[in-house]
Amino acid sequence: MNLMPEFRCHHPASLDEAVKLKSSLPESRFLGGGTDLIVNLRRGLGEPSDLIDLGGIADYGSVRQVDGALWVGAGITLAELARRPEIASTYPALATAALAVAGPTHRASATLGGNLCQDTRCIFYNQSDWWREGNGFCLKYKGDRCHVVVKSDRCYATYHGDIAPVLIALGAEAAILAPAGMRRAAIETLYREDGAQYLTLAPEEALAAVVLPPPVAGRRVGYEKARVRDAVDFPLAGVAVALRREGDVLAELRVAITGTNSAPLLLNTADLIGKPWDEAAATRLVEILRKTANVLRTTVTGAKYRRRALHRMTRGLIDRLWNDDGQVEQG
Ligand code: FAD
Ligand code: SF4
Repeated sequence: MNLMPEFRCHHPASLDEAVKLKSSLPESRFLGGGTDLIVNLRRGLGEPSDLIDLGGIADYGSVRQVDGALWVGAGITLAELARRPEIASTYPALATAALAVAGPTHRASATLGGNLCQDTRCIFYNQSDWWREGNGFCLKYKGDRCHVVVKSDRCYATYHGDIAPVLIALGAEAAILAPAGMRRAAIETLYREDGAQYLTLAPEEALAAVVLPPPVAGRRVGYEKARVRDAVDFPLAGVAVALRREGDVLAELRVAITGTNSAPLLLNTADLIGKPWDEAAATRLVEILRKTANVLRTTVTGAKYRRRALHRMTRGLIDRLWNDDGQVEQG
């Protein structure tokens, strides 16, 4: 670990003030709970001039019902997210995912906004400065080549967040604040398949809230992750599924994956809708997974294992939800 770099710390009283500050300080970073950002700064990954601490903003973590949708402030801690009765009862897979993030001490300060915007990860990147220097650094930061995909002109560092896939499966949106005002966007559009520029947010934009759509009657939702240590670990691969069954056919199937690509991704399952979930459908889904997931050597655990775990977890989770053995959203 390096010494903490020098920076000025600001404590805006409102999110409006925070985004104005951000646009006037191009080298600054927002700070949520700091469980991702501060660890990276201690590894010499970034030298921001200023940190804009969002922690003191009133209502930044508030939860409110608006026209049947649930607005969850980006400042809510993951511990609180899992504890809130309106989440645990209506969106239980979201509470499950929140409880699957890191360990209890992380979750006590880690925020929803920080979780969604967390940096991508790679064994050649999440290392000390001297380790990376010994390796000639890499494309993502300070270097000019990728050690995972040699000759590549883009970074393949992986997005390992647990919450985004569940929000994507639920069809949630992000409320994003910029100095010009608020806009809304589907959660999956916050990301791009580039490990270095993985967020589509403009530098001065802040995630203000997540908007959970009203619950859908009969929809079953679940989240699973594979990890090395159950007590505290990023997903080596993770999958969230939202499924609605009408008689013997799938009326809805939203499958989102994490821990595999530089962005959490929604699979294109259109040709499975209106058909039963059977062996043919499961085989087709594995084909879709093979085409979409791009698991590379970005973690200590081998890519082959992660790919297999993803296929197995996805099949098992859909089987369980199809057979009504999952966490069910209340209609
Ligand atoms: P911060 O560190 O404060 O911020 C993270 C990033 O988001 C920064 O770039 C910051 O500028 C940006 N940011 C914060 N808030 C906003 C906002 N409102 N708008 C725009 N940008 C913003 N994560 C998982 O998902 N699953 C895990 O299993 C997991 N395990 C971990 C294990 C360990 C040992 C550690 C150290 C971390 C782990 N993490 C894991 C990563 C991290 O703890 C979580 O993702 C956490 O939720 C990050 O939230 P934070 O508030 O601490 O983010
Ligand atoms: Fe660096 Fe390549 Fe890893 Fe990206 S994928 S962090 S460029 S080694």
